[in-house]
Amino acid sequence: HTPIHVIGGGLAGSEAAWQIAETGVPVILHEMRGVRGTDAHKTDSLAELVCSNSFRSDDATSNAVGVLHAEMRLAGSLIMRSADANQVPAGGALAVDRDGFSAAVTAALESHPLITITREEVTGLPPEAWDQAIIATGPLTAPSLAAAIQARTGADSLAFFDAIAPIVHTASINMDVCWFQSRYDKVGPGGTGKDYINCPMDEAQYNAFVDALIAGDTTGFKEWEGTPYFDGCLPIEVMAERGRETLRHGPMKPMGLTNAHNPTVKAYAVVQLRQDNALGTLYNMVGFQTKLKYGAQAEIFRLIPGLENAEFARLGGLHRNTYINSPTLLDRSLTLKGRPGLRFAGQITGCEGYVESASIGLLAGRFAAAERLGQTPSLPPETTAFGALLNHITGGHIVSDDEPGKRSFQPMNVNFGLFPPLEPGAVVRPEGLKRFRGKDKAVAKKQATAARALEDCARWLGR
Ligand code: FAD
Repeated sequence: HTPIHVIGGGLAGSEAAWQIAETGVPVILHEMRGVRGTDAHKTDSLAELVCSNSFRSDDATSNAVGVLHAEMRLAGSLIMRSADANQVPAGGALAVDRDGFSAAVTAALESHPLITITREEVTGLPPEAWDQAIIATGPLTAPSLAAAIQARTGADSLAFFDAIAPIVHTASINMDVCWFQSRYDKVGPGGTGKDYINCPMDEAQYNAFVDALIAGDTTGFKEWEGTPYFDGCLPIEVMAERGRETLRHGPMKPMGLTNAHNPTVKAYAVVQLRQDNALGTLYNMVGFQTKLKYGAQAEIFRLIPGLENAEFARLGGLHRNTYINSPTLLDRSLTLKGRPGLRFAGQITGCEGYVESASIGLLAGRFAAAERLGQTPSLPPETTAFGALLNHITGGHIVSDDEPGKRSFQPMNVNFGLFPPLEPGAVVRPEGLKRFRGKDKAVAKKQATAARALEDCARWLGR
């Protein structure tokens, strides 16, 4: 067989190369470290962990990333095998000795007879002569390749960082001031017409808020100043700077909302929060992605009526992260539309985290190898963690009530919110339990979703 080229020997590229080679197809793995470094990597080892040494929860019975671990083990993952062999104690988490882990991955790839590793920077899109290639260059993709991808996909389709919106503990929101309502009482899929928490502002409050946003301290972002913001995902303070009315006509528009506590007075502006986890214990501030400093965020966002005592589960932030707008650019098998044989894998596709990146590498490798062997790539069922994550990356994301069909694509960790709902009756009250709701029921649902995922994954893999 002609070799498949894998660009980037990180978490995704290493796993992709391994999966391809294990089907009997040769691989050339191009990794630039050794010739050129990144701002975060410190070694030349393949699959270096740039920050934490944790693969997060290893609980495959009720944790989504634990399920993904289990599915990867079923699929013969090199990353999981190397992690398991280099485990350090970390409670229910899978944490690894980072050097031992990377050394194991590097040794396995170097000694595989079908894998050739070349230490070089790939500076443009793979040449046509590489009829099958996978780009797995990660969040710190080298600039010339990033530019080439952007030239191909369009300026709006490649982001250089994530701007993350803050998340608030629901219990800390003052519901004597706020109320539940979807704009125009719209009932979306699975919705009730009351899917958002709304915080009303009068004109004076709005003006004071805009002033505070503009005056707020932002984190230094010099290196990337001038890089384009993605998909209308502007930091809130940048929107505020663009004009006093911008927010009121954007994420803070008051239209279609009636203050349940004061129905006759129209709010001048409204901050909306959207449910962030299935339990409803967390809500995120819609459109409030920000690069304000943490201290400034807490202070300024507590100016919002109803959020005076808000407790934040996570503050907003800004991270260097190169990723493409996969839902529009890639087909279901991770191939760039209009360029057969060219796939993307890992964090550049818009997943987040070591395990997720490796799992998308695993899928891209299998899909590419299948094509090389003249087969049609077999997609994992959507009920599996593989399938749920793949669906997040390549599927549609309709999250805006206001502009139906508008996609807002943000990188994400695997989580149970990405899995399709269980069949009715899938969760039954355990015998002997009188009350079955709240936390017990939520746990039972996770367990049923996890069990279904593993069963369907085993079937998919022919086990
Ligand atoms: P990477 O692992 O980054 O691999 C990409 C590889 O491509 C690199 O080896 C790079 O050298 C190479 N490369 C880039 N451009 C080229 C080119 N043009 N030619 C050849 N080779 C190239 N995730 C977590 O789960 N936990 C964390 O604690 C965590 N902390 C992070 C901290 C920072 C500062 C950053 C930037 C990311 C962090 N992440 C963390 C995310 C983490 O980077 C990803 O989860 C994971 O490493 C992504 O895997 P990947 O294979 O897509 O990219």
